[in-house]
Amino acid sequence: MRPDFLSRVCPSPLLPTLTAALSLGVSALALDHPDPRWLDHDRRRPQPPVVDPGTPSTLEQAGRPPSDAVVLFDGKDLSQWASMDGSPTKWIMGNGYMECVRGSGYIRTLRNFGDCQLHVEWATPVPAQGEGQGRGNSGVFFGFDRYEIQVLDSYQNTTYADGSAGSIYGQYPPLVNVCRPPGRWQTYDILYTAPRFDSAGKLLTPARFTIFQNGVLIQNNVAATGPTSWLERAPYEPHPEKQPIALQDHGNPVRFRNIWVRELGHPERKEFTWANALLDTYVGTYERGPGDNVEVTRHGSQLVLNMGGVRFTLFAESQTHFFAKTTDVQCEFQFSESEKAVVISVGEGGMKAKKLR
Ligand code: MG
Repeated sequence: MRPDFLSRVCPSPLLPTLTAALSLGVSALALDHPDPRWLDHDRRRPQPPVVDPGTPSTLEQAGRPPSDAVVLFDGKDLSQWASMDGSPTKWIMGNGYMECVRGSGYIRTLRNFGDCQLHVEWATPVPAQGEGQGRGNSGVFFGFDRYEIQVLDSYQNTTYADGSAGSIYGQYPPLVNVCRPPGRWQTYDILYTAPRFDSAGKLLTPARFTIFQNGVLIQNNVAATGPTSWLERAPYEPHPEKQPIALQDHGNPVRFRNIWVRELGHPERKEFTWANALLDTYVGTYERGPGDNVEVTRHGSQLVLNMGGVRFTLFAESQTHFFAKTTDVQCEFQFSESEKAVVISVGEGGMKAKKLR
């Protein structure tokens, strides 16, 4: 808005004050422009993508996810989930839900997610059994098994505040207790911002969470102090931005339904964490030419390519295609009855290396 325009709409005694306030505002805006690539009201600025918002859930029926969501569980099968080592999960299916089986271990997504909006619905066992942390305990984890949003039957069940439902376990109690009685479906809508680390592994920004439970704000942009731990305050350790999302087996038959996620950071390239058993088939020495070998090893849930004395951590785009993030190195594993090989491409060239052992 300009002063000459103001003089037409504003009574003259107020004009100097308003003009001064506006000029202060304008200078502040110039320093904190939302995006310097665009003018205010720039008609060339791209329109936001159109998304069908879906429908909310009712107590009886799961809703429909937004049209741009990645559906992780629609009540039909567990194809998007595995045990932590990638082997098939022993959690069981019910009518439109999955249920934790005591002693079967955590489950996690095959696909990796960094910054995201996660919707998950859960119901604790009815009738309620146990007390405190022993009643309807599960959890939603980000960063593989690092950062837990507590799932617990906190309906008329007292436990330590930073371990109740909706807490960032051991760190932040929920702002309010909006738990429904056991057996009723409850929703979490979680905004997760993954922590960032520099190339030396130093923490740049912590993991952040904003959470709505049953539509009510319970965590407002809190910064995790580090990974979830019990009886101690664990420090951050560097990890990839995108990691699986996991659900906890804490020994109680907690049920889950209608799980979907919207990627907020770098959705252009999918990443997966495959079973260690699959990755191990790729581990070995590959010969590019006489006396010219490359090594593939596994560190945790990731393959590492050692080529010419340089180590590249590999990320899975499919079950056979892997890529590095520091250099444009691509690996396509070609395993058949007659040959086991990897085609490595970097820069302008590609080369095929045959597996020796
Ligand atoms: Mg838990």
